[in-house]
Amino acid sequence: MLTSGQSEGDASVASSSTPSADDAQPPSLATSSSLSTGKLQECIATEQWQDWRWHMRNRIRTVAQLREWMPTLKVSPGLLSAAEKFPLAITPHYASLIRQMDSSDPIYLMCVPQMQELCDPKFLCDDPLEEDEDMPVPGLVHRYGDRALLISTTTCSTYCRHCTRKRVAGMHESSISPRRLQQVVTYLLAHPEIHDVIVSGGDPLTMATENLERVLSSLRSVPSIDIIRIGTRVPVVMPQRVTDELVGMLRKFHPLYINTHFNHPNELTADSVAACAKLVDAGIPMGNQSVLLRGVNDHPKIIETLCRNLIRSRVRPYYLFQCDLVRGVEHFRTPLSRGIEIMEYLRGRLSGLAIPTFVVDAPHGGGKIPLLPNYIVSSSPTHTVLRNFEGMIVSYPEPGMSSETPQALPENVAPGVWELSSGQATSILPAASNRHNRRRRKAMPLFGQPAETSE
Ligand SMILES: *Cc1c(COP(=O)(O)O)cnc(C)c1O
Ligand code: SF4
Repeated sequence: MLTSGQSEGDASVASSSTPSADDAQPPSLATSSSLSTGKLQECIATEQWQDWRWHMRNRIRTVAQLREWMPTLKVSPGLLSAAEKFPLAITPHYASLIRQMDSSDPIYLMCVPQMQELCDPKFLCDDPLEEDEDMPVPGLVHRYGDRALLISTTTCSTYCRHCTRKRVAGMHESSISPRRLQQVVTYLLAHPEIHDVIVSGGDPLTMATENLERVLSSLRSVPSIDIIRIGTRVPVVMPQRVTDELVGMLRKFHPLYINTHFNHPNELTADSVAACAKLVDAGIPMGNQSVLLRGVNDHPKIIETLCRNLIRSRVRPYYLFQCDLVRGVEHFRTPLSRGIEIMEYLRGRLSGLAIPTFVVDAPHGGGKIPLLPNYIVSSSPTHTVLRNFEGMIVSYPEPGMSSETPQALPENVAPGVWELSSGQATSILPAASNRHNRRRRKAMPLFGQPAETSE
């Protein structure tokens, strides 16, 4: 039996140029490691590898440094032009995660400049979310009533090729000045409806601990601020930064939440998992915001693996973002149907705790819009007809209908959707569902011996 849900899924597969959920092997879960030459290999075992300041000082920032650190890299003219156009920085830690020195590698794609970044269709722009229009004070984006986003620094340890804030991140590197911070506090004091401030950037955890502490304590001086969130990719690209000293400072500012940005299972190294554990152990709940990127993670099984590994590391998948319409990311964009297809795959297969919300951040500053497959099949005043992930269709009786006694269908008539929406039948089951076969075989009482069902 083909349900409406299944045929929709098929349609989205057909219209997508990327591999479908049915492909046996996702493209980038390869495990071979071919990167074992050059400066990286020499440094990896040294003591300084554990020092985040060493990683900051030794970021790969130029094409000459790329050549030095990654001798097997092929430097094309396209790479050179892209490196001139958008900021380049890669921590030695993140560079060491590259397993294949070409665009088949997800980590490579996210940090090494590529010719495709020069593709510049006219619907892409520098500030697609129009954040600059929503800044009452420079650096503070106030879009939603109850929360605001603070750009506390423009520095990141690694610049993501897919960054949505390229107009800010890395164009020049600086952190918020005490004078600016005072203006922000003044605005927050005048707007007690703001209860939640997201400290973002750039990457706030690249700041010196005392500078970040200055930001956090200024925010905490505003009585109407309930929670502070930090948005950071440091646990992914420079986990060495999560030191006891940093965590000791952060825990003074509870309730504090951290959202990080893992996109691929290869990023969840032992060091990264340990960094997250340290933060969670300090009472900081951690969430993850991934971006759906073509060739990196645009496959249901990659996202499933990522989410399973995250939740095991006590990091709760929060958002899965559609790629924004920012310059330089055209090659990363996937059709919206791909995200919907991934959500279809996850629901029912994966613990609800591990399922993120798929969102599109709307152009023109429309904000985040969640997207899901359609689960409502039909509705009438008396019944709403829903389908589940298996293709089972069920009728949900609306309140106040208890006195109605719908006509029962004759024995030999198979119900259709109308029979469900008019209350003449309650469900339509897909043939040969595993779950229903399981149910038929044994009915397990909660206590005592399993009993055979009367069929
Ligand atoms: C994403 C975002 C927020 C936070 O949104 P949540 O859905 O609460 O996570 C707040 N302000 C701006 C400008 C944002 O882009
Ligand atoms: S860490 Fe965030 S702000 Fe920095 S480059 Fe990556 S996406 Fe942009």
